[in-house]
Amino acid sequence: ADVTTLIARYVRDIPDHPQPGVVFKDITPLLAHPTGLATVVDAITAPLEGRRIDLVAGLEARGFIFGAPAAVRLGAGFVPLRKAGKLPAATLAESYDLEYGTATVEMHADVVAPGSRVLIVDDVLATGGTGRAAVDLIRRAGGTVVEFSVLLELGFLKGREKLADVDLRALATV
Ligand code: 5GP
Repeated sequence: ADVTTLIARYVRDIPDHPQPGVVFKDITPLLAHPTGLATVVDAITAPLEGRRIDLVAGLEARGFIFGAPAAVRLGAGFVPLRKAGKLPAATLAESYDLEYGTATVEMHADVVAPGSRVLIVDDVLATGGTGRAAVDLIRRAGGTVVEFSVLLELGFLKGREKLADVDLRALATV
């Protein structure tokens, strides 16, 4: 099956997770499908064949699952963008507002050399806060964001509007 069909069939809705009123898109059935991960990684990397990518930055935690094999495919390194307090060495951090409170994304300060060409990968684009923080981190380090690639864009949350200055690619949109 092609990537659009796989995402439509194997990403499921979980009502009231992580809180009442939220419908969570669960990608684990897609991961369990024998060709799910390979098909997604192909779809993320195919448009970038022949373009220089130095690093793939994956957002904790599901961005790691897709980002690491994408890095292997592209001949690039991998950078974990993590939740606050997880990385052991000196970090750069970006905080952003959630409906209640704030969240922080961190990256090791020495991993993105100025001029690095970076692909950012995550599973779902919702409000765009996480993606915005990731882009700003890479740029603060002097990197160029070649593309921000997600499996699924929740269009009704308008996260794309927060990323108007980025090449954003969604494999599917709902
Ligand atoms: P945003 O910052 O765009 O509102 O939320 C995106 C981040 O939260 C991503 O890292 C993504 O993994 C996670 N996220 C938000 N909503 C969902 C969802 O419905 N399903 C999944 N799998 N992740 C979500």
